[in-house]
Amino acid sequence: MIRISNVRKAFGSVVVLKGIDLTIEKGELVCLIGASGSGKSTLLQCINGLEPIQGGEILVDGISVHDPKTDINKLRQKVGIVFQQYNAFPHLTALENVALAPRVVAKRSRKEARELARKHLEHVGLGDKSDNLPSQLSGGQQQRLAIARALAMEPSYMLFDEVTSALDPELVGEVLEAMRLLKSEGMTMVVVTHDINFARESADRVAFLHQGQVCEIGTAEEVIDNPQKEQTQKFLRREK
Ligand code: ATP
Ligand code: MG
Repeated sequence: MIRISNVRKAFGSVVVLKGIDLTIEKGELVCLIGASGSGKSTLLQCINGLEPIQGGEILVDGISVHDPKTDINKLRQKVGIVFQQYNAFPHLTALENVALAPRVVAKRSRKEARELARKHLEHVGLGDKSDNLPSQLSGGQQQRLAIARALAMEPSYMLFDEVTSALDPELVGEVLEAMRLLKSEGMTMVVVTHDINFARESADRVAFLHQGQVCEIGTAEEVIDNPQKEQTQKFLRREK
């Protein structure tokens, strides 16, 4: 379980997260929606310990992310993250890209790391692309490679930050399909998305962020189809 309690985060004098409370249960897929600048990416980065916080607490399986005593590398193995922009190493093949972190961070043997890499490339439908360089993959394939790289650390949680927004429309489906598969296998996921249809179809709960606060949270039916707050209604009118 991820438990976010009263999290406050500022960049200098700009307060970006103003007391976020959010609990993500095991096996749940929670979509974060909200206008540009509402703090969605910042929240994901705080969950993963990529950004410090100024108040509150984030617990992942009871471990406090921002406690200086916490082994942050161990925590990050538990919480995979995939970003909008592709971030593969250009001079490594798909297989080598996926095998790298298991080898270097998780200290697996070379053989084990390659086996893990093969398994997770298969998992995202890239079994036949293991020898391709990232430049020899389509945008959708590169995003699936990024997902495979995160999965190779065998995380308990996966965070996705607008992983389809930079893709040509015809490539979006294959990436969403890989995410739906993960969900069906029971992965706990936090998904930042502008794709209201994906949120409606796949989310167990949807949280609408507005100016650094969770303005409204509930099932997709509640938040997307019957929003109660004026800000949510306004946002959805623009998005739909
Ligand atoms: P988008 O939908 O455009 O991705 P978002 O909801 O992900 O938006 P964030 O990227 O979390 O928004 O940004 C929230 C606020 O924090 C914005 O006002 C942004 O300018 C500010 N911000 C984000 N990162 C930094 C940073 N590294 N330094 C200073 N300000 C930042
Ligand atoms: Mg963002």
